[in-house]
Formats: sequence, structure tokens, C-alpha cells
Amino acid sequence: TRPADATLINTTCPYCGVGCGVEMQRNNQAWLCRGDQQHPANAGKLCVKGSALAETLDSRGRLLEPQINGVAVSIDQACTRIADEFKQVIAEHGPDAVAFYVSGQLLTEDYYVANKLIKGFMGTANIDTNSRLCMASAVVGYKRAFGADAVPCSYEDLALADLLVLVGSNAAWAHPILYQKMTQAKRDNPHKKVVVIDPRRTATCDLADLHLAIKPGTDALLFNGLLAYLAKQDCLDARFIIEHTEGFVLALAQAEATADTDLAVLAADCGVSESDLNKFFAWFAQTPRTVTFYSQGVNQSSSGVDKSNAIINVHLATGRIGKPGAGPFSITGQPNAMGGREVGGLANQLAAHMDFNDPAAIDRVERFWQAENMAQQNGLKAVDLFQAVDAGKVKAIWIMHTNPVVTMPDADFVRRALEKCACVVVSDAVADTDTTRCANILLPAAAWGEKDGTVTNSDRTISRQRAFLSAPGQAKPDWWWICQVAQKMGFEQAFNYVSPFGVFKEHVALSAFENDGLLSRRDFDLSGLQSLTEPEYQNLQPIQWPVTADYPNGLKRLFEDGQFFTPNRRAKFIAITPQLPKESPSNDYPFVLNTGRYRDQWHTMTRTAKTPKLLQHRDEPRLSMHPDDAQQCGLVTGDLAMVTSRLGKLILPVECDTGLVKGQVFVPMHWTGVYAKHGRVDRLIPAHTDPLSGQPESKHAVVNITAW
Ligand code: SF4
Repeated sequence: TRPADATLINTTCPYCGVGCGVEMQRNNQAWLCRGDQQHPANAGKLCVKGSALAETLDSRGRLLEPQINGVAVSIDQACTRIADEFKQVIAEHGPDAVAFYVSGQLLTEDYYVANKLIKGFMGTANIDTNSRLCMASAVVGYKRAFGADAVPCSYEDLALADLLVLVGSNAAWAHPILYQKMTQAKRDNPHKKVVVIDPRRTATCDLADLHLAIKPGTDALLFNGLLAYLAKQDCLDARFIIEHTEGFVLALAQAEATADTDLAVLAADCGVSESDLNKFFAWFAQTPRTVTFYSQGVNQSSSGVDKSNAIINVHLATGRIGKPGAGPFSITGQPNAMGGREVGGLANQLAAHMDFNDPAAIDRVERFWQAENMAQQNGLKAVDLFQAVDAGKVKAIWIMHTNPVVTMPDADFVRRALEKCACVVVSDAVADTDTTRCANILLPAAAWGEKDGTVTNSDRTISRQRAFLSAPGQAKPDWWWICQVAQKMGFEQAFNYVSPFGVFKEHVALSAFENDGLLSRRDFDLSGLQSLTEPEYQNLQPIQWPVTADYPNGLKRLFEDGQFFTPNRRAKFIAITPQLPKESPSNDYPFVLNTGRYRDQWHTMTRTAKTPKLLQHRDEPRLSMHPDDAQQCGLVTGDLAMVTSRLGKLILPVECDTGLVKGQVFVPMHWTGVYAKHGRVDRLIPAHTDPLSGQPESKHAVVNITAW
């Protein structure tokens, strides 16, 4: 870690996928925090969470030493025990009996080493990440359409667009600096229109010229209807479709077959007024510079992949991609969800955006790593992985920097599964979480400010996170712990890194290995960074991948030449059959429960709850519901309500909110069993997943509500 004499450090915010640059400056004993003026993501601005970072640096509640069954042990004892247990399980039950469950909080270097160990040396792809809960559907949507997990846009497109369509995104709370960019752009361009598509009226709607409060789950129907409308109005880009795409005819036929071309009927099916639907469709038809910005409302669905492809279809049909101010733009929740994707941190990825469905790619990665036991096929995705733990098929699991006992759907099931498992290793910065309580072996992990590496934000910008504090106790960076265990398992040569720089160099080299650049199918290419020296890595400035000989300073926008990463270089339309959520309200469970973020909290609050300032906005989880629904249940704001799903119950204070449509309620995701006995809302969420992405339907459960 960085010596304590550092006084001014440029780093990156650890919270959301905007990836803002942060300057930390030491003033005597205190650290001050401000936005980095030079960082392209935020140009000096920080939201309320980011600006409070300096107030979260104390080591209260930190895990300081390795433990086995609650007893402090040496680093050597802990690593030897983990290596022995994993080796024994693999020897007795095969490689697929072990698993890692990691996190979008890991730096790219941590992620790379974890992925290499389990896929290249333990012989299984059973590594999944909490990013599965965040953007897995967007990944599959991009791959189906473009042949690669390639985010086409850049943040500057948000300002350049004349029409911004936000789908399933409360950017004002979840991505505040991007929301500020949108607000400024609207001030600068009075003709700019903003449409928000969201069942809830959120703070983001303050910016909207039009809010479409669609029925939950009707996104794909709406965009199928839009595709049919654009065709009927002759507003398609026929030349782009002919020269750069395939599959249009089938996709259009399916759109026309599934979405009523009578807009009055379609509007009723989507739960919006005909005039509002007409307005949105007309604006979309008339505005070449359109960005569709989508997030968890699209992804966290049992048909999230189809929703994202329904969005991408209308952009392909109008040629609105690869151009300034145009494109389908998925925004990730976490600070390094993109970096994890780049190294293959998901169970159905290999590394450097290569896949297990390509034998040549498996062979390439195996040779590059000089792998001793290369995984040959996809591993288990998050929900399946914990089911395998419960069934006793996975017998040893290492959970890094995440709290699945709070955040996974059917969270009590996950807890029971871990309690049954004989070997649960948890590496975390925090001593007491719902998940550390299930661990046999604990490893103290370095936290933000104590570790070095890189992260990639939502527009492909790679930025450095830099250490400016010494880690307390025996806390170490995740890549270091993984290497220690790998060496004790006998893989000394392949895991002899001495710093994150060595890991990053290897990651860069793999991206370039047998890759002929943008003309190949491999989009993720950092070959332009191969000669990077350690001092240059230390000073690395934010840069958008790909970074190649042709694009030494990175590339803002992909697909400007109309060439995609599919074998024939054409983008693919996908014929979409809209699906509704898996569960529908009934007499027993008449309300639809939606979950999401509060403005000032991050994930399970291990950092943000440290400062009272961030609890001023909301100091407890609340059940938000329409006042008429509350009245019908005999409730008013401040009353306690019992929220019951098929899986369990929560008691929460009521907050009446006219932003919710009657029949729909909202509960935040942040509170844990450690902070509030009744906080863990994901206990109530069934583990329905998208069949293609494995992403859970975390935004839709049916519940009953009664006075408590
Ligand atoms: Fe930027 Fe997100 Fe951090 Fe706020 S939380 S400062 S928007 S990265």
C-alpha cells in the first residue's frame, strides 16, 4: 500500500458505474476530498455520496486479522488451510465442487487473478459475481446484437443527444453525476427532450418532458410497438439496415405480431395514455440524435435480455448507433462491473471478452496462461451457484467483497445454503456482515483508499484507483490473498505477481494475444498499452478502450464505420416476443414490490452508513406506497406495515408516495440484518431469472401488506 506521506492522490470513486475521478488531499491528519477536474466522467463534480468519502475512512468495524472458526490465525495458517481445503475438495469431488463468488467492488487486477486461478488452474468456471445482479442482461443483449459485449456510446453522447430516453433508470439517485450532465445539457439545449419510462415517478422525472409510467414488465412490448410504428411511418434508415444489419424482416414481423399497431390498444396494454404514447413515438421518429439510456429496470427482469434487444432493435432500424448523440447505452450500477466483464469475471465468460463457446478461444487462453487445468465450459451463474451450494454439489466457496446473504434473491435460502457448507471463505474489509457470519474462514481485505489498480466505468473508461492509506491490521489487497492461496496450491510460477502493475500488464497482453484488432471479432483490445512502464501505469490517465495502434488514445464511440463484431460484421436484429414478469398479483398477494436504491446510500451501507450526513436523506428503509393503497390497508405515513411474500415477511414504516401507481410499492435494497432486523428486502424476492443471462428479477415480487 501507499506510504503515509502521500498528500495529493488522484483516484476514482468506489461507488457507482459513473466512475468519477476523485482528488484526495491530506491536510495535517485529515483527508479532504473533491472532484477531479481533469477526469472526463465528472470534470470536478461529485455527488453527495462521493463528496462524503473523506468521512468514511476510519477503521471502525474493520476485519483486521485472518480467522478460522472465529479464532485469529496467522496469514500463513489461513492461506494454507484454504489451499488444503480447496485441493482436497477438488481431489475428492472434482473441480466443479469449488466456486468463487466475487464482486463489482473488486479492481480489475483482483478480478483478473481470481478468474485466472479458478478457470486456468482449478479447472472450473464456477466464478460468478454480484454483477450478475446488475448488468448480465445488458451483456447478453449487446452480444446478441453486436457480436461482443461492446458499449457503443460515450458520456458525451448524453449531451449531444436531442432526445434522451431513460428506461428503468432513476439516474437522479443512482447515477447522479450523469443526471447532472443531462440537466446541464437540457439547459444548454432548450430543444432537447427527455422521456422517462418507469412504472414509478422518481426524482429523475423532474427532468422529463414526458414520463411514461408503463405497467411493470411491458418495456419490450413498448419498444416492439415503436419498431412497428417507425416502419409504418416510413422512418427507418433503409440504407443502414441493408448495408450493416441482418434479421430485420423477422424482427419487424415479430414486433407487428406482438404489439398492437392500433396505438390506443398498445397504450392500454402498456398502461399509458394514447396521447403520451403518440408523443413519445413521434419524438423518437423525428429525432436522429437519440440516446436510450437503460439500467436496472430493464436488466433485473426475467426477460431482461429481450428488453435490451427490443431497445437495440429500434436503434439499428434507425441507424442511430456509432454517431454523435446516438445509441443504446446500458449503464452499470457498480464501479467496476465493466472491468469484471473485461477479465471474464462472469461464469459464462472466459477472459478478455472471449467465450467458452469458441474452442479456439479456450485453447488461446490456456496457452497464454500456461494453464495447468483449464476449464472447458461455462460455470454456474449466481442463483444456480448458491443452489448448488445448498444441494451439496459445491462444497467449498470463496466469497470476495460482497454480501450475498443480503443481496441475492431469496436471501434466506442463500444463508441456509452457506450455513450448510463445510468450507465458506469470506474475504471482506468489514468484520460483521450477514455473510461473514456464515464463514468458516475470514480474510481481512484492503478497502478503497488502501489498494491500487484500475476500474472501468460505464462508457469504457479505464481509470486508476490509487492507494493513499495504509491498510489496517493484516488487511491485504484481494489479488495478494488470491496469489498466496494459489502459491500454496502449487501454482507458484503463474501467481508470482509482486504488484497490481504486473497483473495489469498481463491483462493487457492477453487482450492483444492473437488479436488482429478491431477487424477481428475481439473487441476488447488494449494492445496500445503493451509498452506501458510501471511509472506510466502509476500515472495512467483515464482512457476509453479499445486502445490500439490505430487508437492510441482510446476510442469514444464504437461502430462509427458500421462494422460490428459478428462473423459477417453485421449487427443482428433479434425478433422479440415480449414476456411479462413471472409473478402476477393475486387476491393473496395483491401488490407488486419493486426494489432499488436510495439517493445517499450505496449497496449494503458498509461505507456510506459511516457518515451521519448520508443518513439524513433517509435513516431507515421505508415501504413507499400510494396514499389510496395505504388508506385501503388502514395505514398512514409513519405506521408500521407487514410486507409478506411467499418467502417471508418484513416490518417497515410506511411512506405515502403519489409517485407510485396504485397497486405498486417500493422498498430500498440497502439495509441489512446487521443494521436493521427488518431491512433485508431480498428475502422477499423469488429467484426467477432471465433464461439467457441468469439475472434475477429483483424488481418484481408480489406481496401482501397489512397493518402491523
Ligand atoms: Fe460519481 Fe457515482 Fe461516486 Fe457519485 S457515487 S461521485 S456519481 S461515481
